Amino acid sequence: MPEPQAPGTVASTPRMIARGFHRRCPRCGGGKLFTRWFKMADDCPRCGYVFAREEGFFLGAFVMNFAVTIAGLAVLMGVLIAVLANKGSSGTISVVAVAAGCEALLAPILFYPVSKTLWAAVDLAMHRSEAWASIGGGNAPSF
Ligand SMILES: [Zn+2]
Repeated sequence: MPEPQAPGTVASTPRMIARGFHRRCPRCGGGKLFTRWFKMADDCPRCGYVFAREEGFFLGAFVMNFAVTIAGLAVLMGVLIAVLANKGSSGTISVVAVAAGCEALLAPILFYPVSKTLWAAVDLAMHRSEAWASIGGGNAPSF
């Protein structure tokens, strides 16, 4: 788990991404960003970084979540079809269908919070100077 970072210091892009994977603030590494599984705080309780700075900000998180779900589905289907083809059993398409259905339902739910913090990290890495400038206050670092 990434270490929390002192306010006012700039994290590297890999560190921001690692924080996103751990559902932590990409700016400071602070946690407790989710009050419920689907409810993310509007801003970081530790450093005040505002996550959704514009309408539709989390569309990127949706795309990431969708991509992870589809990739997982492709891997699962490929493995199951290969295993079942080697066994030579017939009538097992229902196994593949049930497994695919379960993956398609569970993967986006399980990945949902990570997709949001990961997208916040990607956005912060891409718009580093804008994001730091938009915070205001005394925590913004000097470059
Ligand atoms: Zn923070």
